[in-house]
Amino acid sequence: MCGVTPYDSGHMGHAFTFSVFDVLVRFLEAGGQRVKYVQNVTDIDDPLFERARRDEIGWRELAERETQVHIRDMTVLGWRPPDAMPRVSDEIKRIVSASSKLHSSGYAYRTDALYFDVSKYRGYGRLSHRTRRSMLRKLRDEGLLGKVGPTAKRDALDFPLWRPSARDEPAWPSKFGEGRPGWHIECSVMAMHYLGEQIDIHGGGRDLQFSHHESERAQSESLSGKKPFARAWMHTGMVRYQGRKMSKSLGNLVKVSQALQRAPAAAVRLYLVSHRYGRDWDFDWQGLARSARLVERMRKFLADDTRAGTRKTPPGPALMAEFNAALADDLDTPRAVRALRAALRQRDAAALRAMKEILVGSAALS
Ligand SMILES: [Zn+2]
Repeated sequence: MCGVTPYDSGHMGHAFTFSVFDVLVRFLEAGGQRVKYVQNVTDIDDPLFERARRDEIGWRELAERETQVHIRDMTVLGWRPPDAMPRVSDEIKRIVSASSKLHSSGYAYRTDALYFDVSKYRGYGRLSHRTRRSMLRKLRDEGLLGKVGPTAKRDALDFPLWRPSARDEPAWPSKFGEGRPGWHIECSVMAMHYLGEQIDIHGGGRDLQFSHHESERAQSESLSGKKPFARAWMHTGMVRYQGRKMSKSLGNLVKVSQALQRAPAAAVRLYLVSHRYGRDWDFDWQGLARSARLVERMRKFLADDTRAGTRKTPPGPALMAEFNAALADDLDTPRAVRALRAALRQRDAAALRAMKEILVGSAALS
């Protein structure tokens, strides 16, 4: 999956995405699947460079600091750490060689940068169900449209694989001149290197679906000649606060650290995953407080149960069946949280422990 671009880590939108993926990994593993979980860290990217420039800090330093914030937050929120968290800056050689392969096989052309030729790939836009017009509109809105012309890209949808770096950006040597990778190829290369040419589940925040994942899919399938690149895609919804998408530019971010001041880690986790992964939702403090009360009841009950040392009874099969059915149904975590409430009501400690393990992982109850 696509992890953070490390420049403003640590807010609820991030925590939601990574908590959802953590539930998925834990659910699959609890069912006996072996999971290889790779989370890309995009430490070479425009927004990161812009932030570094604005804050007058080195890009590496900023990326390292924000990656650590991300890891620290998610550790507190009880994740099972990814098996690999590759960083773009460590993968440059492989990115150059993939770009070179796309160039020599006719999928890319060179003008002022090396561009991927979208017209060579059938089905660009299908992943995000977008028409050409809607793709162009989104690129324009995000300032990613770029210039079209004989010395630039041939078509507005084409995107750079390798491009010259701006004066204060890092640059690496390559057969296409000194420069740096484009955003999408970075993730194609990391995903394919760590997971293989075809992967089972790929995902990230929904804002990545177009253009990032659409482009990643086009490049990867062009590189390997195999379809599909990913058998399933999971995109998480946006978290709003006070009616608007949480974003640094609007100044309405709720940080994980702020939530942790008001509620235990398990409550923050449970509150996050009580929302369906694909939908947008509104963060509100009352919702977090409700989850905190639930977690407190769980904590008391489990502590009493441990103290009583009652004979170990297996979890109630009906409760577990409902819980598993909920998660097997396109990861319906709100329904799984209702199953957890039922386990608490029925005072089934074994079921409650098993459900807690998947929904909140190792996050602390108090
Ligand atoms: Zn990515």
